[in-house]
Amino acid sequence: MPEPATAQSLIDLNALLDNPVFAGGFGLASLGAAVAFGRKGVLIAAGMIRRRMLVGVEISREDPAYPWILAWLSQPRPQETFLAKRLTRINKLSVSTSTITTPNGPTRADFLLQPGYGSHIIKHKNAYISVSRQKQTTAKMATGEPHETIELTTLYAHRHIFEDVFTEARAIAMQANQGKTAVYSVRSFEWVPLGEPKRKRPLGSVVLDEGVKEGIVADVRDFLTRQNWYDERGIPYRRGYLLYGPPGSGKSSFIQALAGELDYSVSMVNLSEMGVTDDKLAFLLTKLPKRTILLLEDVDAAFVNRRARSADGYNGATVTFSGLLNALDGLSAGEERIAFLTTNHIELLDPALIRPGRVDMMVRVGEATRYQAAQMWDRFYGDVDQDSSGRERFLARLQQLGLFDEEAKDGSAPPRTSTAAIQGLFLFNKNDMEGAINMAEGLIPPKVEQ
Ligand code: ADP
Repeated sequence: MPEPATAQSLIDLNALLDNPVFAGGFGLASLGAAVAFGRKGVLIAAGMIRRRMLVGVEISREDPAYPWILAWLSQPRPQETFLAKRLTRINKLSVSTSTITTPNGPTRADFLLQPGYGSHIIKHKNAYISVSRQKQTTAKMATGEPHETIELTTLYAHRHIFEDVFTEARAIAMQANQGKTAVYSVRSFEWVPLGEPKRKRPLGSVVLDEGVKEGIVADVRDFLTRQNWYDERGIPYRRGYLLYGPPGSGKSSFIQALAGELDYSVSMVNLSEMGVTDDKLAFLLTKLPKRTILLLEDVDAAFVNRRARSADGYNGATVTFSGLLNALDGLSAGEERIAFLTTNHIELLDPALIRPGRVDMMVRVGEATRYQAAQMWDRFYGDVDQDSSGRERFLARLQQLGLFDEEAKDGSAPPRTSTAAIQGLFLFNKNDMEGAINMAEGLIPPKVEQ
């Protein structure tokens, strides 16, 4: 039981409070405590308000929506009201520059101003959104680049605005890429866009031998309708094509055009490049972008490496034959996977590559045939050569040069030319078909002394 305050103890307390030094200190201390208590209270209340009244969404740099949101943020937006004018501002901008160097022309640079790191406030429709773009202190293992996030925060009551923001941002991204084909290449352990998406290459602009293009396109289209067929049989939903033939015959151009036709991107790796190891290839193929055609260029490199390995036991930092097969076999199921392999040296490949699921279709894309030469002529000079007499003279000239012969007169291999060379000749004589006929001899490649 607490003892009741006696008269003596009350007198002692009064005496203490009458002491000016003690009373002043006591007053200050209680004021400090009150302020500290108040401050904590405000912080707790702010936290509660934040939790209760605000809602945020965080987008990491790895997410495909990250560049969309950045592009959306860099859109000019009207600030109609007085309050909006006062409140909304983007404190700091960062610039993203992309350069394009045309083969014979100047380098073109495009700038895009985006909100920089830090916090900004914007108004979208009737909602204020706080935008915080932050670089984290942690870095990605693969590239050493710091993690980056954008956090959008708004009032809980306006939470539905996010749906609107993402829909708009996606639409902007889609519009920017409409009619374009994105190409991804490898940097470190990541797929990164290779420059800006390029204008789609029309399939008609690639001239392969009669029926070749149509055959591959029909096969790919058929494959894309057969997901259920594959699923029901438990077969990984993938299909591989091998295009082989000399350089400059249109292999890469065709794959690019096919991707455009299907509205796919292209993800390419050159296997002859140093640094593309077995592990890296396997890893990259598990992380392919969606709706993409995988293009493995120069697959013969993997076979050359096998030889090098058996000779000295070490093949350097490149892909091996078994590494390539493993990567193809592991090509992820679930989503459709279309792989194109190209080589200039079919003779170096191993038959183990030609197996369903690895390479289902093999197509030679070779030197220019009569059919191709005629088609290319029509594409270049069709409008000026209305009675096709120019084309017939051009073809007759190529015939005369022996470019379509089965066998040369002396029994040796006949001369051949590439579609790239014919295109070069026509480009040189852009508006001059007579010039193209006169210079046709230049299509014969110079003899290489053995
Ligand atoms: P490859 O991949 O077979 O080495 P490319 O597709 O890279 O050949 O062709 C090189 C260049 O030649 C490109 O500019 C392309 O436009 C042109 N070209 C080559 N073959 C063809 C073809 N069959 N049809 C249209 N253009 C072609």
